[in-house]
Amino acid sequence: MRRAVVVAATCLAFIASSAVDAAGVVGGGDDELVPTGKGWGQRPSPGPGPGQGAGQGQGQPQGQGKPSGQASGGNGINYHGGPLITSGPTVYYIWYGNWSGNSATTILPNLAGSIGGSPYFNINTTYYDASGKHVTNAVHYGGSINDNYSQGTSLTDAKVQAVVARALSSGGLSYNSSAVYFVLTSSDVNESSGFCTQYCGWHTHASISGLDTKYAFVGNPDRCPSACAEQTTSPNGNAGADGMASIISHELEEATTDPDLNAWYDRRGQENADKCAWTFGTESIAANGSKYNVTLGGQRYLIQQNWVNQAGGYCSMSVTK
Ligand SMILES: [Zn+2]
Repeated sequence: MRRAVVVAATCLAFIASSAVDAAGVVGGGDDELVPTGKGWGQRPSPGPGPGQGAGQGQGQPQGQGKPSGQASGGNGINYHGGPLITSGPTVYYIWYGNWSGNSATTILPNLAGSIGGSPYFNINTTYYDASGKHVTNAVHYGGSINDNYSQGTSLTDAKVQAVVARALSSGGLSYNSSAVYFVLTSSDVNESSGFCTQYCGWHTHASISGLDTKYAFVGNPDRCPSACAEQTTSPNGNAGADGMASIISHELEEATTDPDLNAWYDRRGQENADKCAWTFGTESIAANGSKYNVTLGGQRYLIQQNWVNQAGGYCSMSVTK
């Protein structure tokens, strides 16, 4: 597997309606970069060690922030005043394309249904809003619908948003201001703004029918395992789905602590999960030879670490507080 390459995990997003911002925007002068492009979290080359997270990115402007200077915080990530999903997010899945017979449809709902309350998701409780309210260690799984290629097999960012809008307008999924709608695409579907070359997933928000809606794109790494999957033999025997589990976790914790891209991120524009992308901490080996680092809802997963916003800040799979 070519570890030097590509991509990754993801992140956040950019202004959904404008590709112009995909390249990274300098916010308020040249001092601090805001989260913007999707595309964070390139898989590290063998060089950088754990904790470097992403960062080695090709063409990712976020990494170009000035290294000097100190923003508030002291834990390596800073609060910028925007809201968090302090109640804990509700996860909805939109199965886009053809997922017939794919065990992802059981592996990933189990993840969404069991990640809340875990020592892993507890890391997000180290983040808080302007009133000092911390994120609750809870995730609600709201359910899913299928979308049979309503926007074709090559999605633009605008089409991803259209998939979400359609899911809501059809009544298939209900609106919830604390929800994150995940568009999960089958391996025959491309996302033309950079899936597999610039990112493996991203999250953003947009006004849809006048309602602020948080949503994410996560593609199937079976389309590009060397870029978007950590391993091709995986704990649940489905490398694509198991790869998505880590990317979903990444986007979910970012969407929780930075849903509108104006809450928690560091001076390079990296959100919490970006800072630990493609690092997994202590790993165990399953009978089939695959690596895993957490068990949720009775199933094993290999999901990336997240940034703990205390004690100076560090990547971990859990926190006690
Ligand atoms: Zn990210």
